[in-house]
Formats: sequence, C-alpha cells, structure tokens
Amino acid sequence: MLSRRSNAVYLDCNATTPVHPDAAKAALETMQSLYGNPSSPHLTGLQAKYILENTRTLAAQLLSVDPDQITFTSGATESIQTAVFSVLQSLKGHSTPKTKILVGAVEHKAVPEAIHHWVKMLNLPLQIVTLPVDSKGQIRLDILENELENTALLCTMAVNNETGVIQDLKAIEKILNQKQSQAFWLVDCVQALGKQPLSFKSSRISYATFSGHKVYAPKGVGFLYAAKNTPFYPLIVGGGQEKGHRSGTENLPGIAAMGAILEKLLKEQAQRDGLDQHNQILTSYRAKLIEELERAFPKIQFNTPFDCSVPTTIHFSIPGLSSAELLDLFDSAGIRLSAGSACNSTSAKPSHVLEAMGLPLDRCISAVRLSFGLHTSKEEIEAGCKLIQECASALKNTCLLETAKAFDPPSNLRDGIVQLRSGPSNTWLIVHKETKRCIIIDPCDTVAERIEKYVQCQKLEIEAILDTHSHADHESIRPELQRVLAAHMVNSHAKFDHLGWPEKGNLTEVTLQNGEKIPALVIVKTDRSADGEVKGDLVLGKLYTPGHTSDSHAFLYGWAKDGLLKNENIQFAFSGDTVLNGGLGRTNFSTSDTRALFESLRLLNGTLSPHSLLCPAHDYNNSFATTFDTEIKENPLLALATGPMTPMTLDSFLTKKQDIDTKLAAIEADFQTVVCGVTGQSTKCQQEKVSLSADEFKQQLQKRMDNWTIIDVREPQEHSLSGNWSTLGLKDSPRNVPLSRFVNFMKEVLSGDERDNRAEPKNLTKILLICRSGTRSLMATRSLRRLGVDQVWNLDGGLVKLQ
Ligand code: PLP
Repeated sequence: MLSRRSNAVYLDCNATTPVHPDAAKAALETMQSLYGNPSSPHLTGLQAKYILENTRTLAAQLLSVDPDQITFTSGATESIQTAVFSVLQSLKGHSTPKTKILVGAVEHKAVPEAIHHWVKMLNLPLQIVTLPVDSKGQIRLDILENELENTALLCTMAVNNETGVIQDLKAIEKILNQKQSQAFWLVDCVQALGKQPLSFKSSRISYATFSGHKVYAPKGVGFLYAAKNTPFYPLIVGGGQEKGHRSGTENLPGIAAMGAILEKLLKEQAQRDGLDQHNQILTSYRAKLIEELERAFPKIQFNTPFDCSVPTTIHFSIPGLSSAELLDLFDSAGIRLSAGSACNSTSAKPSHVLEAMGLPLDRCISAVRLSFGLHTSKEEIEAGCKLIQECASALKNTCLLETAKAFDPPSNLRDGIVQLRSGPSNTWLIVHKETKRCIIIDPCDTVAERIEKYVQCQKLEIEAILDTHSHADHESIRPELQRVLAAHMVNSHAKFDHLGWPEKGNLTEVTLQNGEKIPALVIVKTDRSADGEVKGDLVLGKLYTPGHTSDSHAFLYGWAKDGLLKNENIQFAFSGDTVLNGGLGRTNFSTSDTRALFESLRLLNGTLSPHSLLCPAHDYNNSFATTFDTEIKENPLLALATGPMTPMTLDSFLTKKQDIDTKLAAIEADFQTVVCGVTGQSTKCQQEKVSLSADEFKQQLQKRMDNWTIIDVREPQEHSLSGNWSTLGLKDSPRNVPLSRFVNFMKEVLSGDERDNRAEPKNLTKILLICRSGTRSLMATRSLRRLGVDQVWNLDGGLVKLQ
C-alpha cells in the first residue's frame, strides 16, 4: 500500500495517482546524486543521459517499437498538441484531397481543443467531424466507415477517462485498412497504459500519447509515440533536445520516475499472463465495490458498461442527488472521488461524454466517478466499502435516501425554513416541528424528488403548495406535487386557485398594521414560545403585490395576535420576484406593470419590519435572503420608490426601471436562462476582510475561543460524517447550520430569535463560519455582512487548511 497523508481512501486514480515509492526514489536520486544535464559531455551528464535513454528504451520495449519513435514531453496534453500540429502543418501548402478531421465524441477535451486551435491558427479549410458513440460510449463504426473518405486525421482514444470504456481499436484499424485510408491516426493511450496490452509493432497507429501521473509517476512528464514516416513538427524549439522534436532541458526526475514505472509494467508483461492476473484482481475489487454500492444505494445507476471497460473505473449516478452533493458527502466521509472528469469539476455543465452516450440530463447531473489504480490495495478497497455504507447511513438520516423498507422517519425534524436551491431558483419549505405541518413555496421540478422524500420520510402534513406568481423561467411542479403527495395534503379535496391557495381549510383573515385585511392560512392556533408566552396564531398571510406579473403575491409568515399581523411579527416574507437580493423583479413581461410594482414596493416597505427576512424566488448572487432595509441601502431605485413622494418620483422610477430592464439581455446571456430581475453584487462586502486565516484561527484556539461561536455550514449528512473534531483543536463538534437552513440563522442573528432554543446567539459576540474548503462559509459570511452583521467571519481555506 502506498503511504497516505490522511486516513482518506483515494479512489480518483483516473484524475491522478500518488507517486509510487520506487518512482519517487528514482526521481530523488536524479535530483540529489545523478543531477546532470543529459546534454553535458562530462560523466555526470552522461549518467543523466543514460537514465534518459534507458527510460526511452523501456517505453519502446513496452510498446514493441524503436526507441527513436519515443519523444519525452510534459504530459499527454503536450503530446496531443504535437501530434495534431504535426499532421496539420504537413497539410499546409500542399494541394491535397484531405479535407476532414474525425474526432471521437468522447475524447478528452485536450484532443478537440487542440484540433480547433490548430485548424484556426494554421488557417486550414478543414471540416472537423465529431464521430458519435453508441450508448456504451464506443465509436459508431458504421459512421466512421461512411465518413472516412478524404480524412486527414482520425482521433480516437484507447480507454475513456470518465467511464473507463475501451474503444475497439482492432475494429477501427480494420476499417482503416479495408478503406485503404490515408488518414493519420492519433490514439490517446493515457488511461490504457498498464491496463490494456499495447503493442504497436504491426499497428497502423500513427501517434499515441501517454502521461506519467496516471500511472504512479509524477505530474509533468509523458511521452509521444510517432510511427516512422509520420510528420513531426516540434511545438517547442531551442536547444534541439529530443533530436529537435522537443527542445528544453529534459525533466530528468520525471523521466527517471517514469522509467521506474515502465520497468514494473514490463516485468508484469514478461510474466506469462501477468497483466491478465492483475486484471483479475482489479476486477474482483470492482465487483466488491459494485456490490457495496448497490447495497448502499438501491436506486444506483451505473454509467460504465462493465462488459467493455477497464476494471478500475466505476461511473455511476444516484438519482435525486447532484454530483456536487455526492462529492461533498463522499469527501466528508473520507472517500476521494470525482464528478465525471476532474478537468470538468468546476464547470456546471454535464459531461460531454455522458451526453454523447445519450444519458438523460438528470442522470448526467448526478454522476460521479470512482476510479482506482494498479497499486490500490485490498485494504483500501475494504476501507472504501465501509465508508460507502457510512455515506448511505448519513443520507438516510437526512431523508435523502430511501431504506429498503421505504423510510424510517429519523427523529431529527427541525423547525423553520428550508431553502432548496437549483441554479438561481429557490424553493422554500416552511416546517413546523410540533404539528409536523409544512408549506411548500415556489417548487421547482429539479427539487421535486427531494421534497417528496422529505415529506414522506418525516411524515409531514402539507397545508399548501404555493407559487408566488406564474413563473416565466420555469414550470411550477405544484400540480404534480399535489398529486404525488395527495396522501400528505391536509385538504387534498379542497379546491385551489391557480397559485395553489386553498379555497377551504385552516383559513382566516388577518389585518396588517396599515389596516389592510388579507387572507391567511393558520399553521398553529395560539403558538407559544419556549417559556410559555403566547406569541399569537402562527399564520401565512397572502398579500397581493402585482408588478413583476399581474398575479404576484408575497406570503407573510409570522404571528397574528387578535387578528393583527404587526410588521414586527412578520418573520419571513416570501416575496417571489418583486424584490430580489440585489435587485428588483423585471417588469417587461406581457403581464408586467411597472406602476403596479412601484405601488407594491411601497406597500411591502410599509408592511415589513427591519428584521423581516425577504425570501425571494431567485438568488442570483448567493445572498440567501435579504431585508427590505438592506435592499433600500444598496439599490437607489428602490430607495427612490420607497422614499418621499414628489410629483417626479413615479415618472423617474418608470424611466429608470425601463432602462434597467433593457439591459437584462446581457445578464441573460451570462445565466443562459430567463432572468427574472436585475442583479447587482454589493462591492462593499467583496472588499472587506471577512476571513480568518488558519494561523489566526489557531491563535484564537489558544485563547480558547470563549467569545466565538463556531458554525459548520455544511449539510447535516456531511457534518455527521466529519468524525473527530479534536484533531482540529476543537473540544466539541461545532453547531451545524447547513446552508439549506441558513436563513433561520440569519433571522436568529438579526433578531435574537430563540425558536431553535439555542443560548448562543444571545451572548454571541463573534461568529466563525466553517466548511470544507471555505467557499460555502465565505458565501454565508458575505450574506450576513450584507445585512449589517459585522462580527461574522469565515475560516479561510476551510477545514482543509486545518488538516
Ligand atoms: N487524455 C486523457 C484520456 C486523460 O485522462 C488526460 C488527463 O486527465 C489527458 C489526456 C491529459 O493528460 P496530461 O494531464 O498529462 O496533460
């Protein structure tokens, strides 16, 4: 087993591998003892040259080719560039019937990107054709056959980095031969080395690319095989190293390490059935992991076709959970894996490989890749299997995973507001713990399954499913939810209006402070605080606030005493798109009315208290929720609308609003969807220092952090898997306020609310928010600062920095 820094189980070998001790030893030797420059004529240089040429010979032996066909590079990306550039450069200036480049749809991005780049740079009139794959991810050979004529370059990979699918290179070669194709053929062999037999002795392959860091050598080293009589143009010129194919002093430590690995692979190949035997062991690991995954996640869908893939990759989706959530979960448990492809993990777009295989979007967005390597040990696989079960238990405890016998309701139902985000859209759940009543507001289809599970698992009764208005950017899933959750509806037989407001049930009328009477749903009659004080009836009032659309409403959640819903008792206002975090709802839809919006803004301003938290239908700038006062401070247009009236005020508002709405097109292009209001990020908070460094944190720890409240903002399933807090210097597990419930904490901090029966906020002087990498806690810190809470900090770099 390779040494590891933490107890984590590393199952992300397709992204990179740890360096094998033998490779590290070889590299260290070239750095400390055999450190010569291979171009130097003295002994130290000659020793270095020997290492360089020995590695080249090993690579050549492994591939059954001549050493002079191997060129060392910085890795596969450079090798790919060199091959593509060489072929395209050779076409320049010649009249040739070759007009096409064929590239497999599932290639690593380095291949199509290099092709597009060099076709453009060299200004070549070439058609780039993407070769589709079948549902298993293998090249459609019939289409290859049809497209092959006049092809200059064909690019197909040996093994896919996301799914582990093996391409049938023999079948591709057969077609090339049958068609007597003159095309050059580039095969990306990065993920095949060590896992598949690779012999190019009598092969038609023109170029093949390899990378060290996928096979236990370090990053930054790789090589390119180029067949005899194929074009070769260097990308990098200078000192003429590598026979002029790749200038620059060679990366000798990397090459020496690569040599150590190649030696091992050759030994394995030399033993009769060595590779087969190793593959059998790896296949048994895969079988164990599959068995464990199926046991843990009964609805798992495997995206890797196991009959035509290497045994080291398992690509799967767990319906109802996003790739990001799964990664966070596995990471907290100590399993390192990745979403599709590591190069892709920062982009929200689904993987092009899964798309090419024709997988539905919901499966693509909940996909993760688990990959192990040639040196993964049995113990690591066993530890991984154990952690997989722990992940499943954590999900069951948070109602995110069904058990075999439907749901065991966990005893962890929490009171308050749940915010489910999907892209920039918010779905809100109001949950009342004692009565188990809940209300769902602005439900989006992407979170429907999650809501269903939550309601069923916690055995909630739904008072109403509401929309604040008819949405323009997404379909409300309300009617569908009402149907699926009919057994949980308090009044499943009631009639509902087109926004879900029931015609009968626990309805009443409450009076606002301005005297206006509005309909309201009673959630709890005579609600009391923890110490028995009567707070009033807990209600959700329905306030008509047209403008953004003609049917826009705000739902006001708070306590009505003797039928009076005072401003100060309104806890949350679900305001749809009337007021957004950092903007106002647009008013250029066919059902919009800017004058009406003006009136609605004035009405809301007069109805809410400075501590009423506005929960809009969208959160374009990751602020979670806001207050009317914050928005007035940040938004001159809102200040104008709600300030003193002069004869000019309305006209000025109308002109300025129209102006802003015309600029929406540019923002929409950014978001690639209909945007429901103008957004603007507050620059004030962006510039403020809001983070504690790990060192500052440790200093505070030494002072015992008496006046700090530490809050973990990760989701409960991640928090529960986090294990030993004492290793981070903390006595106890910090309080967990997941981002999905962060608005409750915002409210608590703003008004010292005690619904959670927590003592801290009363005496709290400073708040430190933490998460894994510091990204989520930074977002949360900024959102509180935005509301004027200045004693809140983020732990910079997150828990990662404390490990
Ligand atoms: N091709 C494949 C199939 C890969 O998996 C990778 C790495 O992820 C590359 C190319 C790029 O390799 P390198 O990191 O050596 O540039």
